[in-house]
Amino acid sequence: MLTVDNLKNINGKVVIVRVDFNVPLKDGKIRDDNRVRAALPTIQKLVSEGAKVVLLSHLGKIKHKEAPEVVEAQKAKNNLAVVAPRLSELLGKEVAFVGATRGEEFEAAVAKLNAGDVLLVQNTRYEKGEEKNDPELAKAWAKVADAYVMDAFGSAHRAHASTYGIPEILKAEGKQVACGYLVEKEIANLTRCVNVADKDRPYVAILGGLKVSDKIKVIDSLLKKCDKILIGGAMAYTFKKALGQSTGNSPVELDQLDYALKCLKEANGRIVLPVDSVCTNGFEGWTEKIVSEEVPEGFEGMDIGPKTAELFADEIAKAKLIFWNGPMGVFEQKDFANGTIAICKAVAKLNDCFSVCGGGDSAAAIKEFGYKDSFSHVSTGGGASLEMIENDGHLPGVDILK
Ligand code: ADP
Ligand code: MG
Repeated sequence: MLTVDNLKNINGKVVIVRVDFNVPLKDGKIRDDNRVRAALPTIQKLVSEGAKVVLLSHLGKIKHKEAPEVVEAQKAKNNLAVVAPRLSELLGKEVAFVGATRGEEFEAAVAKLNAGDVLLVQNTRYEKGEEKNDPELAKAWAKVADAYVMDAFGSAHRAHASTYGIPEILKAEGKQVACGYLVEKEIANLTRCVNVADKDRPYVAILGGLKVSDKIKVIDSLLKKCDKILIGGAMAYTFKKALGQSTGNSPVELDQLDYALKCLKEANGRIVLPVDSVCTNGFEGWTEKIVSEEVPEGFEGMDIGPKTAELFADEIAKAKLIFWNGPMGVFEQKDFANGTIAICKAVAKLNDCFSVCGGGDSAAAIKEFGYKDSFSHVSTGGGASLEMIENDGHLPGVDILK
C-alpha cells in the first residue's frame, strides 16, 4: 500500500483526499476540532508537494428517504461550509469551498485551483448515492482526480462512493491511490490489537457504551483474541438479563439474549460482568441513587459500581495490551462518571502496556477527565476500529488501496 510519502509527480495534479471532518456541532459551531486537526499533516504534505488538494468528507446523517423538507433540514444542519474557515485558520492558508458536490460548478471550482491550493467540497452525503457507492457518483468525482488519498479512518469501514468507488476507478485507470498519515498510524496501532504477539499477553478488552447491537457482534472475534473481556456500560445489562438477573429499566437488547448466552458459554469465565451497579429511579431528574448487585424494579443501571470498578482495575493491572471501546456509564452526568474514570486511572498506572481507546464518546470522556496521555493510542474511529478487529484487520476503505 502506498502512503502519501510515496506519491510521485503530484505537483500541479489534482489529488482527492477523503478526510473525516465529521465534527460535532453545537448551535451551528464546531464543538471539537480534533478531527480537522488530525487531517492536517496529510493536507500539509500534499500542499508542500504542490498538489491541488480537493477534500471530500461527510458530516452527520442525511436520510434521503425522508420527506423533501426533512432532507432539506438535515442538509442545512450538516452543511460542511462551517469547516472551511476553521481549516483555513489551522493551515494558515486560504481554503476555498464549493457548495456543489458534482457537475459544472464543482468542476469549475477544481479547474480554478493552482498548485498547492486547497478546496473543500460540500458534504458528500448531500448525494443520495454516496452511501450506496453509486458508480455514477464515483465516476463524477474520479473524473477530476489524478490521484486519491484515503485519510478518513473513521469511515474506512464503509464502502461508499467517496471511500471505495473513487479509488476503485482510479486504480483501474492506473492512477495512484494511497493512505494518508492518519490512516497509516491508525492501522499500525490497531494491527497490534488484531494480530496479538505473545509479549502482548494478557490482552484485555473493555467494552461499554450504548450502541449494543452494533458492538455486541465483536465479542465473538474478541473471544478468539483476548484473554479477558470486561463488559460495562449499557451493554452489561443484556448479559445480566441473559443470566436471569433483574435489570429493572436498564437498556436491554432482548433479541441478543441468546447470543449473549452463547458468548458467555464460549468464554468459559473470560467475560467479566459487573458485580454491582449504580442505579437510579430514572435517567434524568432521578431522585434516588443506590448501589446494588442487581438492578431492582423501577430502577436503571447508570454506571458500574465500586466493587466492579475494583474488579476491572485488578484485571487491567495485569494487562500487557488493552483495547477499550465504550464508557462504563452515563459519564456525561457527574454522578455516573466514576466507573469510566476508574478505568482511566487503572490504565494510567500501567508502565509496560500498549493501550488503545476508540469510540467518539470514549475518546471525549478520557479527554474530559484528563487521561488522554495515559493511552498509547486514541483512535479516531470507533466503528472502524471495532470492525477492523471483527474482520481480522480488513477494512474496505483500506483494502481497496492495496
Ligand atoms: P462510543 O462513542 O465511545 O463508541 P457509544 O456511543 O456506544 O460509545 O456509547 C456512549 C454512550 O453510552 C454515552 O452517551 C453514555 O452516556 C452511554 N451509556 C453508558 N452506559 C450507559 C448506561 N448504563 N445506560 C445508558 N447509557 C449509557
Ligand atoms: Mg458514540
